[in-house]
Amino acid sequence: MPRLSEVLAALDALWPPERAEQWDAVGTVCGDPDAEVTRVLFAVDPVGAIADEAIELGAQLIVVHHPLYLRGTTTVAASTFKGRVVHTLIKHDIALHVAHTNADSADPGVSDALAGALDLRVVRPLVPDTTDPSGRRGLGRICELDHPETLGEFAARAAKRLPATAQGIRIAGDPDSLVRTVAVSGGSGDSLFDQVRAAGVDAFLTADLRHHPVSEATQHSPLGLVDAAHWATEWPWCEQAAAQLDAISDRHGWGLRVHVSHTVTDPWSSHHTSGAPN
Ligand SMILES: [Zn+2]
Repeated sequence: MPRLSEVLAALDALWPPERAEQWDAVGTVCGDPDAEVTRVLFAVDPVGAIADEAIELGAQLIVVHHPLYLRGTTTVAASTFKGRVVHTLIKHDIALHVAHTNADSADPGVSDALAGALDLRVVRPLVPDTTDPSGRRGLGRICELDHPETLGEFAARAAKRLPATAQGIRIAGDPDSLVRTVAVSGGSGDSLFDQVRAAGVDAFLTADLRHHPVSEATQHSPLGLVDAAHWATEWPWCEQAAAQLDAISDRHGWGLRVHVSHTVTDPWSSHHTSGAPN
């Protein structure tokens, strides 16, 4: 049975922390390097419900995508909700490890998992990592569909293949326009419009799209936009990452039990279509 330090070394090899963006806060939040690990839980968000799930499961390590303290902190008092998470984890000997933008830009990364969930063929990164000679690492992915389909059909595919959320899938653009190539980016994607336009794709699937960038993008070109819940676009990474750690565990004979949380931690909790009859 491996020590936490051995498992963390394996995770750092998958998603080297030095490849995270400058502003990011990745790595181990809490955990004793000498503790033994038998069960690992993968999740998107380091929130109380996920800590509770890890306790229930008997996991000694939670690997999440989102940082707990992105901007640093001067307190982990349990009177703050983040401090409460830290207290809960330490009390139960559970380590917390974050792989955020270093997992976004990895090969395979968060957007490869998103493309895989939608059965899309990845062609190349949307924003290539210039330090990668293979040209496979970077943010977002440009993908091709096996057969062209309408924007409406593509959105229906996303609604079916991504985990269910209150938001569902929103589209901007002509639902009957044909989609052959798409850009996908797990998480908030509206800083990537310039690169998406330069790529000349028919549609862009991402999350957290705002009024003005969407309005401008749709006026600018016939680009179709597909907006899913932030959590749903990143959740497929948990399955991909869990499979990667499982394979490492098999290679080393660690016998780890690797789990993926199905708890929906997207903060939006219900949805009403406006103007609908009562
Ligand atoms: Zn995210």
